[in-house]
Amino acid sequence: GEPLLKLVILGRPNVGKSTLFNRLAGRKLAIVHNHPGVTRDWREAEGKLADLHFHICDTAGLDGFESPEIKEQITQQTSQLIQKADILLFMTDAREGITSSEVMLAQQARLTEKPLIMIANKCEGREGRQNLYEVYRLGLGDPIPVSAEHGEGLDDLYQALVPYF
Ligand code: GDP
Ligand code: MG
Repeated sequence: GEPLLKLVILGRPNVGKSTLFNRLAGRKLAIVHNHPGVTRDWREAEGKLADLHFHICDTAGLDGFESPEIKEQITQQTSQLIQKADILLFMTDAREGITSSEVMLAQQARLTEKPLIMIANKCEGREGRQNLYEVYRLGLGDPIPVSAEHGEGLDDLYQALVPYF
């Protein structure tokens, strides 16, 4: 049949990319950790969301504390993954808001003309959307509020993905 579309999750460390990846991949393939920057290498799996089937990639992301060598490696890796992507999922943290490394990543993402879906994670509960408004500053469109950990907002993510399938 048709080759599966490739979804690539971008975002700075600790926003919850691997948590979303694990949820969509349906298997615990990526390491989820409290410390930012745990995923040094990217992971790819077949994933699904309701009746949509796709390839999903988890990425590392920069937090500004890496050595120049690691930084260069991650930047290279990210741009290769962006090249290969059919759809970019740009994930931010609605609690923490936006950092300067995200502004840079957003610029990198904007340069490609790939479809991009903004996702604001950690939206569950009362503190969830504290800095949601900051996400609009990236200028990459309206974010879909989700909680990757609690599986909330995935129906809205589904609605955003459907037109590409
Ligand atoms: P990554 O570095 O972007 O891959 O982030 P991880 O998936 O490793 O998650 C980083 C931290 O955020 C972990 O402690 C997760 O448990 C937590 N986390 C992930 N998703 C959510 C969420 O929806 N809500 C909350 N409150 N925490 C989350
Ligand atoms: Mg990760």
